[in-house]
Amino acid sequence: MDRPTRTRRSRSPATDQPGLLPEPGEGKPSNAADLPARALEVHHRLQREYGGRDHVPRREPMHELISTILSQRTTWRNEDLAYRRMIERFGDWETIEHADVAELTDAISPSNYAEVKAPNIQRTLRCIRERRGGYDLSFLADMTPEEGMAWLLDLPGVGLKTASLVLLFCFAKPVLPVDTHVHRVSQRVGLIGPKVMHEAAHRILLAMLPPDPPLLYAFHVNMLRHGQKVCTFSRPYCSRCVLRDVCDYGTSPDTVKY
Ligand code: SF4
Repeated sequence: MDRPTRTRRSRSPATDQPGLLPEPGEGKPSNAADLPARALEVHHRLQREYGGRDHVPRREPMHELISTILSQRTTWRNEDLAYRRMIERFGDWETIEHADVAELTDAISPSNYAEVKAPNIQRTLRCIRERRGGYDLSFLADMTPEEGMAWLLDLPGVGLKTASLVLLFCFAKPVLPVDTHVHRVSQRVGLIGPKVMHEAAHRILLAMLPPDPPLLYAFHVNMLRHGQKVCTFSRPYCSRCVLRDVCDYGTSPDTVKY
């Protein structure tokens, strides 16, 4: 996935396990025992670079849940625009659930794949209402992280990232959302192997870090920011990266850096 890499990746026998050895010539080996310490070091350096992150709920849970569905493959600006258009046009969750699907699709059209997301949102709302008698998710606060995760994952259109965002951001549960930036930076640094997919990355990275919600929140937000600003998809700006000496990609002589 790292486009600038020149070296050809070799086969790995256990692609969803932490501590994979990097490819020959891709920097120092990622020793499994060293990974929790490296993950913490990454966290501390990004904290210093981007500052502390107050862990406060940014949105109420239903807003977080539906916004996250709208955010899939969509910029933050368009996600926000789609959400505001939807609320302005329909007003409340009950009306959105029963709206004409073509009208809902039109309202959320700034979000990509609106024609898929509109019926998904309605199915999600229907499921929540049928199971809870309304659209209030505050009961999740009284559940364990495992219970809350299982409840959310049972909703149509809700995956691990969305469920983790709701549980961490709104209820301070010790889980870690892994978006495309967290995933890419973690792979390049060597915290996860090159073939570890997003779903497995949630479990592997969470096991590496302390079960401390403010720390997990800061790790998520700062890794995301680092992936947007420095370790970008097309160009890893290693020459100005604070992680370079603890990063497999950054310490390798065989990778393309900027
Ligand atoms: S050193 Fe390079 S590859 Fe590693 S995290 Fe920094 S920018 Fe990304």
